[in-house]
Amino acid sequence: MNEIHAVSQNTFKVYEKYVVKRYNVKQFRWIGENLEEVLEPVPVIEAVTDKIIREYDPLQKAPELLTELLKVDFRNEESVINFVSTYGLPAGENLDKLINENTNAAIVPPSNQRSKAHKKLRLIRFNEVKRLGELSNLWYDIGKSDEKTLGQIIKGFEHSIYDDNRLGEAWETVENEDDNIKARKFLFLKLKERKLGSLDFDMVDGKFSLVIHFDDLFQVASWQLANFIANEDYFKKCQHCNNLFKPLHGHQKFCPPLLLAGRKTSTCQNTHNQRQKRKRKQQQKGEI
Ligand SMILES: [Zn+2]
Repeated sequence: MNEIHAVSQNTFKVYEKYVVKRYNVKQFRWIGENLEEVLEPVPVIEAVTDKIIREYDPLQKAPELLTELLKVDFRNEESVINFVSTYGLPAGENLDKLINENTNAAIVPPSNQRSKAHKKLRLIRFNEVKRLGELSNLWYDIGKSDEKTLGQIIKGFEHSIYDDNRLGEAWETVENEDDNIKARKFLFLKLKERKLGSLDFDMVDGKFSLVIHFDDLFQVASWQLANFIANEDYFKKCQHCNNLFKPLHGHQKFCPPLLLAGRKTSTCQNTHNQRQKRKRKQQQKGEI
């Protein structure tokens, strides 16, 4: 059988400066028994310049994208700014209507109304990170394959069959299988809900080619996760920051270097080494 090769031709832009702004948006809220219009500040992260400092293809240049995205805490503006300054906004929303008429605009556009410019995004959209984190942790737990952890995953599966018919039907197909298969089936169903980009036919440099397109970085990260799982690779936890990372080799103990940011060494490992050094010095001083 021939191997299928799909070319990635996705360029994502990183602008020079991002800030978090708050726009007053009219929303409808129940106040007592009445539905009333209220103005509420909506935090939006946006590029405030047209100057682009980087254009990159994340599949080729940012293998660490998934695990770096998982570290982002969207309630912490500094954490979000740090991420987007390296990788750009993960998705874009067309918020022009909201912003131009900011006091009399009606509604926040639905999440699927995306903008290709990737210059503005409501902070709340970063909650996608939480879902990706749940899936990644599920895979980490399956990898540990200890009885207790698998048991907890399966309990979660069993509980959710009452709210979701699809899960109920799937449960019946694995009911008599061992715990590992049950847990894998649960992860499979959860991962199936995510969009992993789309395959397309294209002509590249005069040659026919299959290409993979991503609408946003959340899809890229989902694709990276699915690909990682399909290869039966497992995450490790960093000995410095305790976050998940994809090991490049068996002995790796720390998050990998951020290739896209031009780093050749691991920041976590460097910080860890410096702390160890300081500790040793202090111990030596103590001995004298
Ligand atoms: Zn780390």
